[in-house]
Amino acid sequence: MLSDEYIAGFFDGEGSVGIDAYGKVRVSIAQKRPEILYMIQEQYNGYVYSKHHPVFEGYMLNFLGKKDCQKILTAIFPYLVVKRDEVEIALKAVELIKDHHRGCDPLSYNELKERHKLRDKLQTLRPKKTFVTLESLNQIYRNRIKQEFVMKCNVCGKDLSTVRIRDQVISQDKLWCRACVASFYKKDRKPISKQQMENAIASSDNMWEVCDKLGIGRSALYQKRKKYGLEIQFNKKDRKPITKQQIIDAINATNTIKEAQKMLGICSETMWHKRKKFGLLGAQVS
Ligand SMILES: [Zn+2]
Repeated sequence: MLSDEYIAGFFDGEGSVGIDAYGKVRVSIAQKRPEILYMIQEQYNGYVYSKHHPVFEGYMLNFLGKKDCQKILTAIFPYLVVKRDEVEIALKAVELIKDHHRGCDPLSYNELKERHKLRDKLQTLRPKKTFVTLESLNQIYRNRIKQEFVMKCNVCGKDLSTVRIRDQVISQDKLWCRACVASFYKKDRKPISKQQMENAIASSDNMWEVCDKLGIGRSALYQKRKKYGLEIQFNKKDRKPITKQQIIDAINATNTIKEAQKMLGICSETMWHKRKKFGLLGAQVS
């Protein structure tokens, strides 16, 4: 058994913490030979893998998820000398990790911003040349959408390559001219009763179909659900335990993945994760 003092010293030399552009926290220790990594793993979980890279050939011990990151960092923090400041920031970032998986529930812009604040701090302590800021991440996204729509409005096809940037509106992963986006959101303001909402939601588990039925956009659907207290209870249903056999049975009973997830009462994202977990992706279930 290794002492926390020893692991801290080891981490000061070979460990690192990072927050990536998407807000994901990474805690890792690199080493040419895996023995010590396996010993640390025995005490603090994480997983060891071999890495073959031009600049590093050896083994990595990675910690993922709130519980594991918190456990190792809290244990070694009192004894750290070199990487104390970095780990202090990482501990704050780890605190922000959600307790459940985020498949159906990606980070909001504000949550991402909060993580980027810590990431910026880390960057001042340990500058990285290939640092992507939240602004540039946003820019990459905007450029991708513009490229995808070849600088043309997705509704009227107007060429937007010569208009001002503020008139190149990006919304719902599409490129719009001002006039089209304004008329698109106009329909979102039409009054819909709670009963109408409930009927539409009950008719399909596909969000886009519900939108079409009501004749509103995705964000309007979200707002109206919130208003009537009809929000999707993602976390609760995602956490319900489902066995491999239940998934196989549901797929066999319904013949399509979509019907099966409906039967199990989970969304497509969760279905994908569960199929991945049980090795049922792509495989013909019989
Ligand atoms: Zn247009």
